Amino acid sequence: MRIDVFTLFPAMFRGPLDESILKRAQEQGYLQVEIHNIRDYAEGKHRITDEPPYGGGGGMIMKVEPIVRAVESVLGDDLGQIPVILLTPQGRLFNQEVARRLAGYERLALICGRYEGVDERVRQLVVTDEISIGDYVLTGGELPAMVVIDAVTRLIPGVLGARWAPDDDSHATGLLEYPHYTRPSEFRGLRVPDVLLSGDHGRIARWRREQAIRRTWERRPDLLASAPLTDEERAMIARWDAGETSSETDGE
Ligand code: SAM
Repeated sequence: MRIDVFTLFPAMFRGPLDESILKRAQEQGYLQVEIHNIRDYAEGKHRITDEPPYGGGGGMIMKVEPIVRAVESVLGDDLGQIPVILLTPQGRLFNQEVARRLAGYERLALICGRYEGVDERVRQLVVTDEISIGDYVLTGGELPAMVVIDAVTRLIPGVLGARWAPDDDSHATGLLEYPHYTRPSEFRGLRVPDVLLSGDHGRIARWRREQAIRRTWERRPDLLASAPLTDEERAMIARWDAGETSSETDGE
């Protein structure tokens, strides 16, 4: 996948793209990220990229021409064929489903706003989609762009390697993920659940499934309505709702 990022602050991307899985994904050819400085597409001696808003009010607005020029010149004939995403708190909320959909594209473009945001005509001329990473306001679209790049990249087949599939992750199944433990088996009197040491993969899978449902019930009950659950699992939740504390896998 190729991702073109349009920003006034290219250096912000250095750390996150140069470490760990994102770095390896680029080295192995799964991911190509091209960072474009919007200022390079601004005209005039001072290459101005922002101006005060028409109609008054505080803050600065990112000018339309440098952004449109940058996107058109980089995307060329691909403009209109691929998603051009504006990061904005006014966009639709980013989640695992949106990440999965974006991971299916060969190419994406991300536009990072700054200051009070971009001139509205950017939306009309080049933007096809708007994404918010949450109901709060950041100083710029660079961190949101990195969030999108990270979440999408780990879903590209092959990036995580065969033994680490993202299918069990929180939200991938419609549930939060079950708890994890690693060595040592006991620390300060806290023991790893026996079932995980049993070597019985059937029991472990049942325990993990129930723990995922339990955790979702406790922390994000809103997710359960649309989670893919069996009739027995829904009956188990009804018993928890009724105050029963024991669990199906307690004896395991
Ligand atoms: N005045 C804008 C508004 O109220 O919608 C907010 C501008 S914000 C200070 C500057 C830039 O940060 C935005 O243009 C956008 O690119 C980015 N940004 C801030 N919060 C964001 C969020 N929750 N999700 C995605 N991008 C965000």
